[in-house]
Amino acid sequence: MGDAIKATDSYGRRFHYLRLSVTEVCNFRCTYCLPNGWKKSSPMNYMDTQEIRRLVFGFASMGLAKVRLTGGEPAVRKDLTSIIEAVSDIDGVNKVAMTTNGYNLNRYVDDWVSAGLSHLNISIDALNRETFLKITGHDRFEDVMAGLGRALEHDLGAVKVNAVLLRDSVEDGFKGWSDFVRNRPVTVRFIELMRTLDNAEFFADQHVSGEVLRGWLTQNGWAPKMRGIDDGPAIEFVHPDYVGRIGLIAPYSKGFCDSCNRLRVSAKGNMKLCLFGNGGLDLRDLLQSDGGLEEFQARVLGSLQSKNAGHRLSASNPGDTMNLAQTGG
Ligand code: SAM
Repeated sequence: MGDAIKATDSYGRRFHYLRLSVTEVCNFRCTYCLPNGWKKSSPMNYMDTQEIRRLVFGFASMGLAKVRLTGGEPAVRKDLTSIIEAVSDIDGVNKVAMTTNGYNLNRYVDDWVSAGLSHLNISIDALNRETFLKITGHDRFEDVMAGLGRALEHDLGAVKVNAVLLRDSVEDGFKGWSDFVRNRPVTVRFIELMRTLDNAEFFADQHVSGEVLRGWLTQNGWAPKMRGIDDGPAIEFVHPDYVGRIGLIAPYSKGFCDSCNRLRVSAKGNMKLCLFGNGGLDLRDLLQSDGGLEEFQARVLGSLQSKNAGHRLSASNPGDTMNLAQTGG
C-alpha cells in the first residue's frame, strides 16, 4: 500500500500506532477506574467490523503499522475474533495487539491468535486472589492466570502484564513481581496511576511516582533497554538473571509526550489526539462505505496539526476524560 501521506503532527511526531477502543463496556470494577461498575450513559452504537476495517485501512494508508484493540473490555464483544481477523488482514498492519482484563482469555486466546492476534497485554493488578478481588471486584485471579499460561503457549510477539502502581501495593509488589518474571518470558509494566475526572480522591490517596519503582530497579541490578519505533510509552528494564522484564509507564515524568507515537479512536469512531485532551474528531461518517480515502487522510492530517506538545496532567488537568474505560485506555 502506498503510504506517501504520513500521519505526522506539527512537532514532527509520526504516528505508527493506533489504540482502538472497540467498546466502552467493562465487566470489572477496578478501584481506580470504574469502582461502581460500568453504567450505560449513551447509546451503545459501537463501530461494527466493517467500519473498523475501513478505519484501520485509512490509517494504514498513512503509515500505521500497529493496532491495539482496547476498551472498555474488548473481550466482551462477541464479534472480537472477526474484528481481529479484519484488522490483521489489512496491508501494512504488522502487529495486532490487545489489552484485556483476561476474564475469558483461557477460553478464547487460541481463536484470537488464529485470527491474527500478535501481541497481548493482560491487566493483572495483584499476584494473589484476595488483593485481585479487592481491586477488580471479581474473584477471577485463577482464571486470569490460567489465561496467561495459555497465552504463553503461543508464539506471540510479546505477552505483557499491566499493573497499576498503587500506594497500597508498592511494598510487597516489586519483589513479588520480579520473582514472577524470573523464569517467565513476560514483561510486567507498572503504570503510574493517572488522574481522571472520576477518581480525584482515589488518586490523592493512592498515587505514587514511578520514580519509586525506577529507584528499586536500579538498586536491584535492572538496566533500561532501548526503545523500538512503534513501542508504547513504557521504559523496559532487563536483568541478566531474569527471563522476563519489568517496565514503567510514567505519564507524569518530564518529556513523556515527546515520543508520542499513538493515535486513539473511540468505539464510536471519534479520534482523540491525546488520552487527556478535550473533544475529538468524528470519523464515523467516512466509514460507511469503501472509498473516500483522500477525505479520510485530509481530515486526520488536518486534525493532527492541532495536537498539543503534551498533556496537562501535572497541572491536575485530565481533559474531558472521566475514566480510561470510556476513553479507551
Ligand atoms: N479492560 C481492559 C484491561 O483491563 O486491560 C482494557 C482497558 S483498561 C482501561 C486499559 C489499562 O488501563 C488497564 O491496564 C488498566 O489497569 C489501566 N488503567 C485504567 N484506569 C487507569 C488509571 N486511572 N491510571 C492508570 N492506569 C489505568
